[in-house]
Amino acid sequence: MVWEAPAGAPVELCFEAIDLLGLDQAACSSVLEDLAKKLRPIPPLEFKSFSDCSYLTCKALGVQVRLVSGKADVVFLYNENVEGFSQFRGTLPEGLEWTHESKDVILMLGEPSDKYGGGRFRAVGISYETLGLDIQFKESSWEDQKNPIAFISVFQRLDPSHGLCELCGKHASFRCGLCKNKRYCSSDCQKKDWLRHQKECSGYLEKPSLKCDDLLPRCQQASKLVTHKVILDAMD
Ligand SMILES: [Zn+2]
Ligand SMILES: [Zn+2]
Repeated sequence: MVWEAPAGAPVELCFEAIDLLGLDQAACSSVLEDLAKKLRPIPPLEFKSFSDCSYLTCKALGVQVRLVSGKADVVFLYNENVEGFSQFRGTLPEGLEWTHESKDVILMLGEPSDKYGGGRFRAVGISYETLGLDIQFKESSWEDQKNPIAFISVFQRLDPSHGLCELCGKHASFRCGLCKNKRYCSSDCQKKDWLRHQKECSGYLEKPSLKCDDLLPRCQQASKLVTHKVILDAMD
């Protein structure tokens, strides 16, 4: 089935995926129905419910919305010939275009905050959590610079000052156990940041005794090895 705009005009979808986030199923359906009416024949919307989430899909529009607890939390925008979708023909976020390949995306958006997939069978993807974007590519090799985009996931942007590692910008699941303030993805990053952070860490500055006891035991040794005891709290 090929859906086209009436009289063959290119379909322009005036629609920002981010605007759907947080809307309930009825509101999302009504936005997608309005868009679908621009195509002939008017394509159907499909709704599928699973135990933990549900999906509202219009393959002809190249759009799928995931709802969790009844609210849209991710909007997927598809490229042509991916899982039976037509190419989404509205404006893509951050100036992206379907002709962009993996190297173009990195050039435009910089180093991603996370990477996933890879290996023999899993296509690779990259995350920009502060932009609220995941970009899933079609092929599974990280070496592939010309990897075409399969689909783009749009979700709520992470506030850049919250939830990301102080040092590397990845998603942070831990925080400094002394000040409970600075966040880190790993003890590795916390260690690397410690010489800088100790000058501002309120928990450390208030308890200088920690210097000799808990925090930096090995700094006292002649070896001068900087192997600080890491104090990380998991965040709940
Ligand atoms: Zn980190
Ligand atoms: Zn601290």
